[in-house]
Amino acid sequence: MDTTTLRSRITGSLDALLIGDALGCPVEMKTPAEIRARYGTLRTLEDTPRPWWRPAGLHSDDSQQAVALCDALLEAPDDPAPVFARLLVEIYQAYEKGPGQHGGHRGTGKNFRVTVDTLVAAAGADPFAGAQPTAGNGVAMLAAPIAWRFPTEPARRGRALLAVARVKTTDPRAVGAAAAVVEAVAHGLAHGSLRDIDRGRWIDATAAAERAAGTAGTDGSATHAFSRALTAMLARLPCPRAEMLEAIEAVAGATSDRPVGPSAGYALGSVVTALYLALDAPTLERALIDAVNLGDDADTVGAMVGAVRGPVGEGGLQRPGRGPGGGRGGGVAPGGVAGGERGALVAHGRAGAPRGRGLSYRPAEVSASRMAMPSRSRPPRSRRIMAQMISSRASGTSGREVRTRGDSSSISRAMEAIGVGP
Ligand SMILES: [Mg+2]
Repeated sequence: MDTTTLRSRITGSLDALLIGDALGCPVEMKTPAEIRARYGTLRTLEDTPRPWWRPAGLHSDDSQQAVALCDALLEAPDDPAPVFARLLVEIYQAYEKGPGQHGGHRGTGKNFRVTVDTLVAAAGADPFAGAQPTAGNGVAMLAAPIAWRFPTEPARRGRALLAVARVKTTDPRAVGAAAAVVEAVAHGLAHGSLRDIDRGRWIDATAAAERAAGTAGTDGSATHAFSRALTAMLARLPCPRAEMLEAIEAVAGATSDRPVGPSAGYALGSVVTALYLALDAPTLERALIDAVNLGDDADTVGAMVGAVRGPVGEGGLQRPGRGPGGGRGGGVAPGGVAGGERGALVAHGRAGAPRGRGLSYRPAEVSASRMAMPSRSRPPRSRRIMAQMISSRASGTSGREVRTRGDSSSISRAMEAIGVGP
């Protein structure tokens, strides 16, 4: 694989992760019925309603942590955990705390906050001090950069994944889920397609990560629960959408003591669903829209779907003026990685903070291009993609306007919110 292709696929993964997260933010924890009532189908970047107001296009903790992991992998590729843990603390400590305000972290869950509080108390002594016994999607959502960093080195991917995972979780289900995401991203980077993914190798790599992570369940019976759930999903393909989501829910529910929907934070719900949507949807855009409209952990499912489907050329987001199929390989990735990519990752204004203040995190040199190859100056891809995504929907057949304050300023506000604005 030539470096230009690899670079563009990595960028596709990064961009789509950010977009999926931002797209899902307004409907996190909502039910599909609530989403329909408010948006019809959510297709555009919208403000996150109060009481957790955020401007449209601003991504949340999923992307923040993925970006932190980028930095960690750049600084210490073979020992990323201490840097990653330190960055989680830095993001937390740099900004105010209060009810609903967790430093610079946006939209975090309770387990994560315990992790960070414990890391703060440990004062850098032990990056693994805060790991929680959680089988959630909190590692899977941020793990894609491991594949970006080690696209052709499965052994290094595996080691990095275990180290990073141990910062947050002790549960092999969460680790297996993250390994499945990383391996899917790596496959997409190498092949530009997910259709030919070797399912046996994919499942084996997932199960190996689970084994390495330890045991789950009092008798160890849950250790391979995630790889079994992945196996069950793959065995069912192709399958009507509703039927598949029901099956995922049933498999997940069998290992949980409470009901879990297909986009629940539980790894066997949301991560299996995200992998399914990334494999199954005809286009990246469709995959992202379908993901977030399931609600529940919508932003995280969007982020994971984006990371996995983003490197894949076929059916990617198209550039303006290109028809379906896109020419030149189509897709979100081909052709233009930019020095400006970095712009998509910096200047994450804290909600409500005046621009120029309250930057929750400024990864000094993070960029997909630096991770893989040298960068060149071109118009920021994220900006073009988001502008197109928004404008194509605003003028779509539904006739519905972009709803964010309802006017053309939506695009520039969304651009500004992700730090690539005017
Ligand atoms: Mg989030």
